[in-house]
Amino acid sequence: MERILLGPGPSLTPPSVQAAMVRPPLGHMDPDLMPILEETAVLLRRVFQTANEVAFPLSGTGTAGMEACLVNTLARGDRIIVAASGFFAQRIAEIAGRLGADVAVVEAPWGQAVDPADVVRALRARPVKVVAAAHVETSTGVLQPLRELAAAVREHGALMLVDAVASLGGVELAVDAWGIDVCYSGSQKCLSAPPGMAPLTANEPARARSREGAVPSFYMDLELIWRYWAPPHAYHHTVSVPLVFAMHEALRLVAAEGLPARWARHATNASAFASGIEAMGLRLFAPRAVRSPTVITVVVPEGVDEARVRQRLLAEYGIEIAGGLGPLRGKIWRIGLMGHSSQDRLVLLLLAALEAVLAAEGAPVDRGAGMAAASRVLAASSAA
Ligand code: PLP
Repeated sequence: MERILLGPGPSLTPPSVQAAMVRPPLGHMDPDLMPILEETAVLLRRVFQTANEVAFPLSGTGTAGMEACLVNTLARGDRIIVAASGFFAQRIAEIAGRLGADVAVVEAPWGQAVDPADVVRALRARPVKVVAAAHVETSTGVLQPLRELAAAVREHGALMLVDAVASLGGVELAVDAWGIDVCYSGSQKCLSAPPGMAPLTANEPARARSREGAVPSFYMDLELIWRYWAPPHAYHHTVSVPLVFAMHEALRLVAAEGLPARWARHATNASAFASGIEAMGLRLFAPRAVRSPTVITVVVPEGVDEARVRQRLLAEYGIEIAGGLGPLRGKIWRIGLMGHSSQDRLVLLLLAALEAVLAAEGAPVDRGAGMAAASRVLAASSAA
C-alpha cells in the first residue's frame, strides 16, 4: 500500500522533489552543477535567516550535522553545556563526550522546556565554550524557546549551537536575530527532501577552529567542505548529486511558499490536529505553551496497545506514525506534520483513521468529534 508518512520524519516529498532526484546525473565537479551548489547556499541562508557565508547541506543525516557542529567548535577538554529534556539533546551530550569535551547536562523533565535560568547558573560556574539545545525535541514534541537562552549564552562569551532538525522550515527560526552561532538541520523533516543531507550554517566565531586547521575530522571540516560548495569549488568528497538536486528543489519550494506562510500552515494544521485529538477524548503530551507545530505527541490511552494501533494504521490505512523513545516507549505516539506532510486533508485523514482504529480496539473515543473539531479550526483559519 502507498505510504502516507506522518511520523516524526521522514516526511512526504513533493512530486517535483522526487522528479529532481531522478534527473540525469551530473558529475560532482561538472561546471553545470556549480550554479546549483551556489544557489542552494543562497536559498539555505534565507531559510536559516542568516547572512553567514557558510551555509550548505552536509553529506549525511541530521546526526552528521550534529557531529560536524560539535567537532568544528569543541576541542578536547572544552566545556559544553547541553540543555536537554529528551533523546536527541542527550545524543548531543553523548557525541560531545566522545570528542573528549567536558560535558555538563542541564536537564528538564521530558515533556518540558529547559529553563534558561538553569543554563545561566551553569554558565556562571566556570568558562564554557559551547551551549547546545534542540529547538524541537522530537522525542517529546517540545519546542524549546531560544531567544532568551541564546542572548544569555552570547553575554557569557560562549557559542550557541542549535539542533534545528525538526524545526527548520516548519517553525520560526532566526539564526542571526536570535544570536545562534552554529545550527544544523535534516533534509527529511520540514524541508521535505529525502534523508541524507544535513543543512548547516556557521558564523565567523564558529568557524575559528576550522580556519586554524584545528579540526580533527577531515570529512567534517567546515572550511574544506565550504571550499567545494563555494568558489573555487575544490574537490573534497563526492557529494550525492541526486540528493543535491532534491535539496535544491525542496529549498526552491520553501522560497516560493515564503517562510511566514509556511510557518502559518504548520501552525494551523498542528492546531487543527491537536483540537481533533482533544475532542476525541485523548490527551496531548507536550504542554500547550511549549508545543511544537511540527512534531505532535499524543498520550496513549489507558489499556490501549500502543504498537498495535500503529501497526493497524500502517496495515489498514498506509499511515506511518511513531511510538515513544526511551522512557516514553509505549506511552506516547509521535506524529509529524512537517513540510509536505503538513496538509489539512492529511490531518483529517489521520484523525478519521485513528478514531476508527481506536474504536476497533475498544477504546472509548467520541466518534466523529475529532474530525468536526479539526474542521472548525481549518475553516476558521481559511476564513481569516
Ligand atoms: N535531532 C533531532 C531533533 C532529530 O529529530 C533527529 C532525528 O529524528 C536527529 C537529530 C537525528 O537525525 P538523523 O536521524 O537524520 O540522523
